[in-house]
This record gives sequence, C-alpha cells and structure tokens, in this order.
Amino acid sequence: MTTTELTGAEDVAWNLSDLYESGDDPRLEADVQEAEQASAAFRERYHGKVAELDAAALAEAIEERERIESVFTRAIYYAHLWFATDMADAPRGALVARLTETGAALDTQLLFFGLELADLDDEAAEKLLADGALERWSHWLRSVRKFRPYLLSEPEEKIVTEKSVSGVSAWGRLYEELLGALRVELDGTDVSLEEAMAKLYSADRDERRRASEAVTEALEPGLRTRTFVFNTVVLDKSVDDRLRGYETWISSRNLRNDTSDEAVQVLIDACVGRYDVVQRYYRLKAKLLDVEQLAFYDRMAPIGDDPTKVSWDEAREIVLGAYYDFASEAGDIAKRFFAESWIDAPVRENKRSGAFCATTVPDVHPYVLMNFTGDRRSILTLAHELGHGLHGSLAGPLGLFNADTPLTMAETASVFGEALTFKRLLALEDDPGKRLNLLAGRIEDSIATVFRQICMNRFEDAVHTERRDTGELSPERLEEVWLGTQARMFDDSVDLDGYGTWWSYIPHFLSTPGYVYAYAYGFLFALSIFRKYELEGDAMVESYLELLRTGGSKPPEELAAIVGLDLADPGLWDNGIDALAAELDEAEALAAEVGLG
Ligand SMILES: [Zn+2]
Repeated sequence: MTTTELTGAEDVAWNLSDLYESGDDPRLEADVQEAEQASAAFRERYHGKVAELDAAALAEAIEERERIESVFTRAIYYAHLWFATDMADAPRGALVARLTETGAALDTQLLFFGLELADLDDEAAEKLLADGALERWSHWLRSVRKFRPYLLSEPEEKIVTEKSVSGVSAWGRLYEELLGALRVELDGTDVSLEEAMAKLYSADRDERRRASEAVTEALEPGLRTRTFVFNTVVLDKSVDDRLRGYETWISSRNLRNDTSDEAVQVLIDACVGRYDVVQRYYRLKAKLLDVEQLAFYDRMAPIGDDPTKVSWDEAREIVLGAYYDFASEAGDIAKRFFAESWIDAPVRENKRSGAFCATTVPDVHPYVLMNFTGDRRSILTLAHELGHGLHGSLAGPLGLFNADTPLTMAETASVFGEALTFKRLLALEDDPGKRLNLLAGRIEDSIATVFRQICMNRFEDAVHTERRDTGELSPERLEEVWLGTQARMFDDSVDLDGYGTWWSYIPHFLSTPGYVYAYAYGFLFALSIFRKYELEGDAMVESYLELLRTGGSKPPEELAAIVGLDLADPGLWDNGIDALAAELDEAEALAAEVGLG
C-alpha cells in the first residue's frame, strides 16, 4: 500500500538506537545469551524450592525473574520493531522467528515459578504477603495466585499443555486456514475475503450490495465444516472449564481480566439496556444516506465525502494542543515522541499496516508506529497511540511486572487521549456538514467498540451455554442465534437479510473465547473518566495522572478509586454511554441544521 499524496510525514522515521544500534549489534546477542544463562541459573536455584523461601528471599527471586524478563523483552521488542518497518527483509523476519522460539523455551523453563507460587498454601502465602519485604510485589503475587483454585496437578497440567498442540490449537489453526482459503467471486473476478470486505466501505450502494452478496455466497461452502470446528472448540473449552472448576464459560476470561462474573454482567446489562443508541444512530444514518432502511452492508458506508486532508505538522499541533490543554506534564511527554524520533509515521512499502504503541521495556521509552495518510481519522489514531505512550512513560518507573495493566485497563489513556483530541478537532471545525461528518465517524467507532462487541458477547454466551446444556449446534441453529442477538441490538434500524452466516468469518470466537467484551469495558471506563473531567475540569487532572502512574500495580477497583469511580456501580457504564449519546444528540441536531435530519 502506498500513497502518492505528500503529508510531510515521509521522513518521520523512528530511531531504535535507544534499544540497539542494529540487528547485528553485539549487545543484542549478549542480552539474549544473558537471558538464557540467567534463566537456567534461576531454574537451578529455585526449582522445587519456592515454598522454602522467606519473604526477603522471595522478593529477591521475583526481582531476578523480572530482570530476566526485561533483558529478553528488550531484545525481542527490538526485533519486532525492526521487522515492522520492513517485513520483506529476510534478516529481520529471521530474527523475530529465532527470538520467538527462544522466548518459548525460556517460558517453559521458568513456568515452574508461577506454578509453585500458586501452589503455596493460603496460610503460608498470607504470612509472606504480610511481610514488608514483599510489599512491592503484593498485587503481582496475588495475581499469580488467583488461578490457584483452578489449577490441576503438575503432571495433569503438563498433559493438558502438550495435548493442546494437537487438540484445540490445531482446530484453531485449521479454522484460520479454512478462512484464509476462502475465495470470493466478485464481479467475475476471484478476490480474497478482505478485498471483498473492503468494498463495504464504498460510497456506491450497489457495489456494497454486490460485495455483501458475494461474501454470503463465499461463506456457504464449508459452512458445515466450520460449524463442526467451532462446536469442537466450544466443547473443548467446556471440558477444560469442568475439570478446572470454572463456574461459567466466561469465568476464566474474567479472572484473567482481573474482574468478576458479576462485574462483567453489570457492564453487559448496562450496554444491552442502551441498544436504543445504536438504533437511533442507524436510523439517522439511513436519512443521511437517503435510504428507507439501512441494510447490514450499509453500516460502513461513508457519509458525504470529506476531502479535508491534514499535514503531519498540523496533526502534531492538534494532538499536542489537546494534550497540553489537559496538562503540561502530559503535553511535555507527548512532545518528546516527536522531538526525539520515537515515532515511525509514513506509509511505506512492506511496513506493517495499522498503528500501535509498544510499551514493554520500562527503562526505555515507548515507540509508536503509524501509517499516516493525512485523513482526519489518522489524527485520532495518533492521539490514541500517544495515550498509550503517555501511560507507558508514566508507569514505566514501576518496572515491567507492576507497570503492566490487565486488558480491561490497557485502553484507558488511549481512549481518553482520543476523546480530548476529538473535542479539539470538533471545536476547530465550523462547517456543519463537516462537523456532522466528524461526529458520525466518531459515533461509528464507538458503536463498533462498545455495542458490537457486547452483541457478539451475547452470541458467544448463547452458543457456549447451549453447547453445555443441550449439545452440538447445527449451522441453522447458529444462524438463528447470530441473527437473534444481532436483531436485538438493531431492532428494525438495520435489515439483516443475508447476514445469517457472517458469524463464521470472525476468528476471535475460536482463538480467544470471551475476549470481545474487554473492548467495551476499557472504552466505557475511559469515557466515564473523560465525562468526569468535563464536569470537574482541572480538579481531575492530578488524580488521572496518578492513575496512569500506578500502572497495573493495584487491582482494577483500586485503580478506578484513584479517579473517584466505583467499578461495581452500574452508573459508571451509564456515564460512558451518556457521553456517547450526547455526541449522537449533537449529530442529530446538525443533521437537522443541514436539512438531512
Ligand atoms: Zn489501543
């Protein structure tokens, strides 16, 4: 993918020398060797002996375990970043592959440590945790030990791990290969699923309709096989959950996310209770597109055309302005990303697509990868990634283990930074048509992140529960469940005719069951902090920065309490949804103003 338009980002390349000088920098090899030797020594010293350690000795062991992780992470992190800007370069690919293998070997060697910590009996563990020497590690230790009630014996765990390669992982890979092999016959040519899906963003309704029909047709062959694979993976999970004693299909995921079944249900109920926001938006969109009723293939259609392009310099000024407006400390940190070459900005051949912020080595600043095209959406992407950068920079001094947040909290600063920047972007635009365009894009992103994910969670919930209660689901039954959960969200705002088999192209359902709600969780959590900031203004700034500085060193409830929020209170999710609904109000008013509402 290349763009011919110049954005001023062409020469904005990151400088990775804060990690290593190059792929063959001898320091990199030295770090890998150091990690290997230190892992072997760690195993030699502690394997089978963790239960004998007193608090001070255990603290020393955890510090060493973290040091090994940091040394190796620095190397593999460099490999991934180096590879990301030129994925066609063989030496870069080879380094990633080699270090990935090394990493897996190190993990296997060090696995015993977590297992032995989980194996400590509760009384012994509480005694250790009460000792001041372990204060810094108390949350980390509790997190490692939270799986304790669900672990099998060591020989059983070994069998489960080894058999999964030819079991659930193999089924997962088969599914991916089946999806990868799907060909879509579109307008007489043979295209991939992605290419066909990309046509759903076309401004031409007829083109969208043809693409959707072609995808529906392409999903038909093999549907029975994919249904069987899905059923098998779902069954495998139910067996695993039964053996381990997890109460519901989602309990293990919730535990991993540092939350409870009850707390997640509160979030889900709050979102399902506000499906009207989705319906209102798609009814508005039908008017904007001048159609009677939206079809499912119209959801991604562009509204009007917004040719507004921004240069890299303008984007930087808007984003930095938003961060500085919030707090000078936040602005100063964001500014360093530009001034010190921590960002790789342009679209380049063989570069990884999309955008990310890599914050994995606390003693080195984060790096941001962009594919800056100059459209206004990429300003928000930049603000998003710099939010991660700010979070990583502020939490970095805690060290690798304590800086790391659970998935549900990982998007706090990114979503918040995006909200700040969106407000600024909107304030800079006077033209009502363009304002409407900005708002519509923002609302669509929010719906995709919040409601679409919750709706997919309802599908997963129904499938996993039914598989456990009554057995295998047929393709027809899956279609019924999929359309039922979708229709509950859309009501009659979107015509779903032809959409019934589209569950079967979403690999998440197989690769990471239960994953999807975390997007909604993180997004609404961040939006309700933003809502609070809008109400309280500068009084919120210090507590917000303190939240970021705390990283993942405390449980989510305590993190939320820093900014005065209560995760058990359904009102928290309502606040986030209200922020979204307020944007929808504004969009409806603008549509009326430009004569489209
Ligand atoms: Zn993100």
